[in-house]
Amino acid sequence: MSDVLIIGGGFAGVWAAAGAVRARHAAGLADEAVRVTLVDAADDMVIRPRLYESDPGRMRVALDRVLGPIGVRRVAATVTGIDTDARQVSALGRDGEPLELPYDRLVLAAGSRVVAPPVEGAEHLFDVDTMPGASRLHSHIGRLQEGQFTAVVVGGGFTGIEIATELPDRLRAVAGGADVRVVLVEQSDVVGPELGPGPRPEILAALGHAGVEIRLGVRLASLDRDRATLSDGTVIDTRTVVWTAGMRASTLTSQIPGTRDSIGRLLVDEHLRVVGVDGVYAAGDTAAAVAENGHVVMQSCQHAVPQGKLAGANVGADVLGLPLAPFSPNPYVTCLDLGPYGAVLTLGWDREIAQTGVEAKQLKKSINADWIYPPVDDAAAILALADHHITWPTEAVDARV
Ligand SMILES: Cc1cc2nc3c(=O)[nH]c(=O)nc-3n(C[C@H](O)[C@H](O)[C@H](O)COP(=O)(O)OP(=O)(O)OC[C@H]3O[C@@H](n4cnc5c(N)ncnc54)[C@H](O)[C@@H]3O)c2cc1C
Repeated sequence: MSDVLIIGGGFAGVWAAAGAVRARHAAGLADEAVRVTLVDAADDMVIRPRLYESDPGRMRVALDRVLGPIGVRRVAATVTGIDTDARQVSALGRDGEPLELPYDRLVLAAGSRVVAPPVEGAEHLFDVDTMPGASRLHSHIGRLQEGQFTAVVVGGGFTGIEIATELPDRLRAVAGGADVRVVLVEQSDVVGPELGPGPRPEILAALGHAGVEIRLGVRLASLDRDRATLSDGTVIDTRTVVWTAGMRASTLTSQIPGTRDSIGRLLVDEHLRVVGVDGVYAAGDTAAAVAENGHVVMQSCQHAVPQGKLAGANVGADVLGLPLAPFSPNPYVTCLDLGPYGAVLTLGWDREIAQTGVEAKQLKKSINADWIYPPVDDAAAILALADHHITWPTEAVDARV
């Protein structure tokens, strides 16, 4: 029997598990031939792209409802070490007991985390990056009282824009008619520097529509429970500062003796094998894979899902001595939620606008509420969608533009 071990039950890890089971089925082998195990600290797959929405506690899927029907063994534990010479992973179980998990092939799919800045008062920051972070913000907003309906969002990138356009309505819902104020702070001199000039007019229109104040060319200098101070000396009275800037790959990547990029992702070859490390694959936010035309993947579900499916297919093929397939995701698209104003869909790496307003918002709702969820309680549906030739979500996007 061969052991395939997957670290992480997010978008890449869940689909890697399904991809590996699918590969075993395709080879006509019994379950015992390849044992697929997924280890995650949590019991749920967190739907991270929805954590900027209200009531984020809903944004989860029980891992057992996806992994159970397809016979994947789940271990609820936090991985603490990876020994690539001994091909063994160390973890701590829920009961605090250490575990050793051997593997023949490993897929590292432990995701990424936003990194809090080294500013005074950083412990007062909120985030929408993790389920605990987003839930803490949600409860905090529910407890705000008169005179406290000002929020500051730091970072004018993808996540910052989504939460900044969403927050005015979320504050209004608890403000009982009082004025609300949202300030977006971005250190560069444009909003959405990484999104490029294409969607910027739509983004600015949406921020204006939501009444969000924009402060460009400044950073967060410090904060305490009642105020934020910006690098130009501006003081904003607020109890709600949401940090969105600077994603880094899981620190578990540093336990693998491969080369890492500037955000900690492991360099992988076209088959998603970590370059220079036998038996180890990486997928999702931990992997710097090359997508179409030489572009390196974004830390996104859009790339994590096809990477997961392919990493699973390839570890399955690898242990069975079958040929590996290359990574070839569908063309890059972006669908950015712009709050009550709508959304903006862009196509390609130059992000040319394809849809805006209500139409794009409808698409974003479908992506968030439907397409990014794995099927549950249905082995046939899960394994059918695990085919690495099916790349979410571009086929569906193509059908609508
Ligand atoms: C607010 C927000 C909005 C976003 N919007 C979009 C969007 O519109 N479109 C898009 O494509 N992407 C979006 N993203 C990005 C997307 O969510 C990530 O790129 C995606 O979740 C990456 O998938 P992953 O499987 O690599 O990692 P994750 O989804 O982060 O999953 C990693 C898993 O590994 C587990 N794990 C980590 N460390 C350990 C450990 N030591 N031991 C055991 N388990 C561990 C975690 O518990 C987690 O379950 C958004 C992200 C955020 C936060």
